[in-house]
Amino acid sequence: MEIYADNAATTKICPAALSEMTRVSAEVYGNPSSPHTAGQNAARTLWDARERVARLIGASPREITFTSCGTEADNQAILSAVNADKTKKHIVSTRIEHHAVLRPLEALARNGYEITPVGVGRDGTVDPADVARAIRPDTALVSVMFANNEIGTVQNIAEIGERCREAGVLFHTDAVQAVGHLPIDVGAMNVDFLTASAHKFHGPRGAGFLYARSGTALSSLLLGGGQERGRRAGTENLPAIAGMAAALEQSCAHMTENAERMTALRDRIIDGILSSVPHSILNGARDCRLPNNVSVAVEDAGAEAMILLLDGMGIAVSSGAACAAGAGEPSHVLQSVGLPPELVRCVLRITPGEELTEPQADRIIASVAAAAARLRELSPGWNAKIRGEQPFIIQ
Ligand SMILES: *Cc1c(COP(=O)(O)O)cnc(C)c1O
Repeated sequence: MEIYADNAATTKICPAALSEMTRVSAEVYGNPSSPHTAGQNAARTLWDARERVARLIGASPREITFTSCGTEADNQAILSAVNADKTKKHIVSTRIEHHAVLRPLEALARNGYEITPVGVGRDGTVDPADVARAIRPDTALVSVMFANNEIGTVQNIAEIGERCREAGVLFHTDAVQAVGHLPIDVGAMNVDFLTASAHKFHGPRGAGFLYARSGTALSSLLLGGGQERGRRAGTENLPAIAGMAAALEQSCAHMTENAERMTALRDRIIDGILSSVPHSILNGARDCRLPNNVSVAVEDAGAEAMILLLDGMGIAVSSGAACAAGAGEPSHVLQSVGLPPELVRCVLRITPGEELTEPQADRIIASVAAAAARLRELSPGWNAKIRGEQPFIIQ
């Protein structure tokens, strides 16, 4: 049986979400903006989804805006923050953000904004004090991701949020990898904006949401109808939105038990690979880490070849961000944690789903070891190294 271990790229839809999508597609066919009964049924389904999503993150329904994906929600949060006070032209963020945050910030930089990217340590975590020090009187926004999509590190969002609150600066967190996997309470975390995406927590593709604290104005990216109270024009993708609410409910209902089980399996895979594959290292902190993220650099075993070999053994893994891997760019996240370039190209990201069993975890370990051994057999560099002609990179 195939082992799908690329859940950081996208997750398999859960039965509860699928059946809700089928039901809503077939039965709730009206447009939520229409005044007749069919429309009002749709409006009720939409409100119900809003209430459910809001409750699960400690928000109120009016603070939730449905979007088409996490990328859209990230873009909208950033645009809204800069539009809130146009005299402020400075933004604080980090070096390990997703492209959905990095690219809009780069676009702002081309338009006169100054961006301060806070660095991370070797362990991939952000020091809240560094964020606080970067804040200036003209700072419009601080944006720090909750959990990293490549190396799985989880930031101390509550503390960063507190520093932002003290400084009176808006705070956004890209929580796409965290929502549905880690507990979220927007109040306790002191966030003004939080973004999520359904397909990262076993919901459908094509739905996400933006939490915006009551009182913060949102700018619409799309010009058109007055849907989402003028915050997001375009007829709502009701089946996907309802499916997202169902998926989030399921994920939150089983969160504690899933996190415990996945953390144990994650550590089993990490220890198994590090002990059975010589010259392999873990990227990112072992604690402060998503329960299902294993990111390892395997010296002299190129990720592209490893992925194909593992695919042949029935195991789906990746080298890092799905989008960046496709473009063949070296990962900015791995560079930011100080991984040397010759190791950046040797990183495997293994992100199994909750259905993973212990024997499957062991199969992952054995397959990674076998694939690495095969590639190293063919590697002139590796053979020279084991003859002692060159020092190993990893001491
Ligand atoms: C996947 C991802 C996104 C983008 O979400 P989409 O719904 O695919 O647009 C943004 N940020 C992070 C951290 C992600 O993992």
